[in-house]
Amino acid sequence: MARQEKLSPEVIGEMYNQLTDSRADAFGGNLHVGYWTDDYDEAPVAQATDHLTDLVAERLEVVPGERVLDVGSGTGRPAVRIAVARDVHVTGVTLSEDQVRLAESRPEAGRGQGHAGFQLADAMWLPFDDDSFDAAYAIESLAHMENPAAALGEIARVLRPGGRFVVGEWYLLGPLAADDAADLEIFSRAFDVHFLPTVDEFYEEMDRAGLKIEIFHDIWANISRSFRLVGEILPASAARLGGEFGERLIACGETYRRFGEIPQVSYALFTAVRH
Ligand code: SAH
Repeated sequence: MARQEKLSPEVIGEMYNQLTDSRADAFGGNLHVGYWTDDYDEAPVAQATDHLTDLVAERLEVVPGERVLDVGSGTGRPAVRIAVARDVHVTGVTLSEDQVRLAESRPEAGRGQGHAGFQLADAMWLPFDDDSFDAAYAIESLAHMENPAAALGEIARVLRPGGRFVVGEWYLLGPLAADDAADLEIFSRAFDVHFLPTVDEFYEEMDRAGLKIEIFHDIWANISRSFRLVGEILPASAARLGGEFGERLIACGETYRRFGEIPQVSYALFTAVRH
């Protein structure tokens, strides 16, 4: 499991305050990978990233009126999309104040039956009562967590028994060669990645929290095009951002491309049920 020195939630929040403007624009507001059905799917990246959100939404198996938690809600685009499509109430939590402001300003967030609200909160200390959600999801947020076990425990606590928890996340197929491990270290440092487990570790961590994985779906083949696209926008974003974080991204540029080529790096949708 790749871990690095402890970084406070404030540091992660600040990184996302900065990153939100740059990558989110190019990805239509989504801070996650795109999903393409096959090589002939020519969907632009904003549409492909929405496609991933839709796959998560399907797996939640919610009915209108239910309450859903978005763990690491980014710009709010996924939460609003799911709220509107499924007529559910989505609560998004993020460590970035800028993201809360941006998400709350989405005009579609408060309309209709389905609606989404956002707040600043740490997944490792969720400010919600036990059993207060019917379903939950985390798209590319667990990787940033310094204590994923605590976050999963909290998610299980606030989720009602029988509720689904869907995760879209990177994971490792097996041990890395030394050169690849070094690249991964640089990548993890640039993007504050703390948690990149093997699939067995994923199952163990989820199980320990009381979340039983029922469907494991590797979608690497569908998402890998995202690497080239992010690689293309990264230098310009880094230059625009400047400062310490911009420098970190520039240093990571070449490694980013190689990260996408590490054979053991993969991506899956995990669907778990709270015991
Ligand atoms: N799920 C969104 C955003 C992914 S980016 C999307 O798919 O577009 C990762 C998000 O996780 C950011 O919003 C970041 O603030 C959030 N995050 C990381 N660690 C967190 C934590 N401990 N608690 C709450 N949110 C966290």
